[in-house]
Amino acid sequence: MKLSEFVGYGDKMEQLMRSVQAGRIVHALLFVGPHGSGKRTMARLFAQSMVCSAAEKPCGECPACKRFLAGSHPDVKLLRPEKRSIGVEEVRGLIDALSLRPYEGDRHIAMIEQADKLTPNAQNALLKTLESPPGDVMFFLITDAPGALLDTIVSRCQTVRFGDVSPQLCARALEARGIPPARAAMLAGLSQGSVGRALEIDGDEAWMALREQVIASLEALRGPASVATAAMPLEAEKGAEDGILDIMELWARDLMAVQSGGAPFQNSDRPRLERSAIDGRALLQGVLLARKQLGSNVSWPNTLENMYFQLMDNGNDGRTTLSWQR
Ligand SMILES: [Zn+2]
Repeated sequence: MKLSEFVGYGDKMEQLMRSVQAGRIVHALLFVGPHGSGKRTMARLFAQSMVCSAAEKPCGECPACKRFLAGSHPDVKLLRPEKRSIGVEEVRGLIDALSLRPYEGDRHIAMIEQADKLTPNAQNALLKTLESPPGDVMFFLITDAPGALLDTIVSRCQTVRFGDVSPQLCARALEARGIPPARAAMLAGLSQGSVGRALEIDGDEAWMALREQVIASLEALRGPASVATAAMPLEAEKGAEDGILDIMELWARDLMAVQSGGAPFQNSDRPRLERSAIDGRALLQGVLLARKQLGSNVSWPNTLENMYFQLMDNGNDGRTTLSWQR
């Protein structure tokens, strides 16, 4: 894959690369974005481009690219949490390695994944090097939780922000990976435009089956008398509570979109969304409350049935807006 082919970000990255090559850039890039937004993939492509010896970077075929892809390029150092955090010793080890001359090219590349896992001491150790770096080092820090980084670290880096791309762009990115258009569109909707998440879902038949079960359960809700029957299949899914609530939240947001005349993410399920007897806003409030109840140790069956009864309250059609404050 070429930088320019990275859907949604190609132009930005090419521009950044030109700045690096012209020496017009700080020596540290901070890639920030939610899980699955492509920041790690992009950082790796960018780093690979910096070692690649071909004209069209990254070529993936030159000796430097091959070593990079195999994780054996001598000038590329990778730091990521092996356990829960990245400690000060690991950062010192990295800094020592960077003090040597680059082995193959004219600079070192230091990549720190999940940089938010750097302990405060480790961040302080890194800070000194970021403040007055050896001229031949390029840092890549990657994180989905930049709030865990010291302001002084962030201010020494040029931040590159990633968001979820639109479902349309996401679908194109999936098609570029060989996924057929109809499936790509469906996955893009289910992942709300996160390419990484879409690829996870694609290989996860169990998740697809759970999603179908959740929607069927919601569709089986027809008045208070149906609560126990509708909830039963989901109550049996032990350990899947969080996943079920996530699926419900996505469904609720799309119900809200359809019920207010907007476009749902899960467009392939539009007819089912339109047929739904459940009010999207009430379902979303129900999901939020359910998460709270689970957090305070209410059992999963009770949590779920509470939610379903609330949805069926005030008339049997469920199309009600409820107040959850008591
Ligand atoms: Zn190459």
